[in-house]
Amino acid sequence: MTMTTTAALHLDGVHKTYSSRRSGEVTALDDIHLTVGQGEFVSLVGPSGCGKSSLLKIVLGQSRPTRGTVTFGGELPAGRHRLGMVFQQALLLPWRTVRQNLLLSHDLNGAPAGGSDATADAMLTTLGLADFADKYPNELSGGMQQRVGIGRALVHDPQILMMDEPFGALDALTRDQLGMELLDIWERDRKTVLFVTHSVPESVLLSDRVVVMTPRPGRIAEIIDIDIPRPRRLESVNTPEFGEYVLRIRRLLNITTSAH
Ligand code: ADP
Ligand code: MG
Repeated sequence: MTMTTTAALHLDGVHKTYSSRRSGEVTALDDIHLTVGQGEFVSLVGPSGCGKSSLLKIVLGQSRPTRGTVTFGGELPAGRHRLGMVFQQALLLPWRTVRQNLLLSHDLNGAPAGGSDATADAMLTTLGLADFADKYPNELSGGMQQRVGIGRALVHDPQILMMDEPFGALDALTRDQLGMELLDIWERDRKTVLFVTHSVPESVLLSDRVVVMTPRPGRIAEIIDIDIPRPRRLESVNTPEFGEYVLRIRRLLNITTSAH
């Protein structure tokens, strides 16, 4: 990949130390160098507490790196990039309908406020939620709520879609299904995605590259190119090459059990 012209995001020597009176200094991230190409799907995997969420917060601008820099590619002037964020919980407002939740500007980084009903309805159709536009969140299953969460992040056409364990609260079947739907959307739009997951197979199935992190302080242990042809299908997980990637990442993470 030619990083100079197509980079969507570049982290250069990012270091994050938190200091609190109670626990003293905690180094969450140490010397992170990462370039994410335009349209690339990159996952971060690593043990709990290795700084994955901290890294996303720094990219979002919610938290400042102690050292190092974050730069964005694309045509917009600095500071005008649009970022979409999906969390583990959909965080929908219970008193707003699905359509109204979708149009609630999740204004994290200069996302334009508002958006039209037509845009929202097109997104709801993409997500298979066309019939639920006027329902309220409590009328939806967990998987459907998270689809709305994803739609809310995508409806403003972000340059980078960031997802922090977006399927972590879902049952295994729903998780697989949403993963495949995300892949369909990605195949079509080729958005730049930065995806955090605890599931090694999920990272291999979805990603162009998997960034494997070390325990705290989080450093990059290795970045693995996933050369599995696209479009990928759930059946891809049954191929020997898939198993080899999973094994290689688990070894890096020192996971010896077969827990996902
Ligand atoms: P992960 O998402 O990989 O589980 P986090 O980025 O949430 O990791 O946290 C990395 C480390 O930084 C952890 O040890 C956590 O306790 C610490 N940490 C995260 N946020 C803060 C904060 N706001 N203040 C102090 N420590 C924090
Ligand atoms: Mg986290």
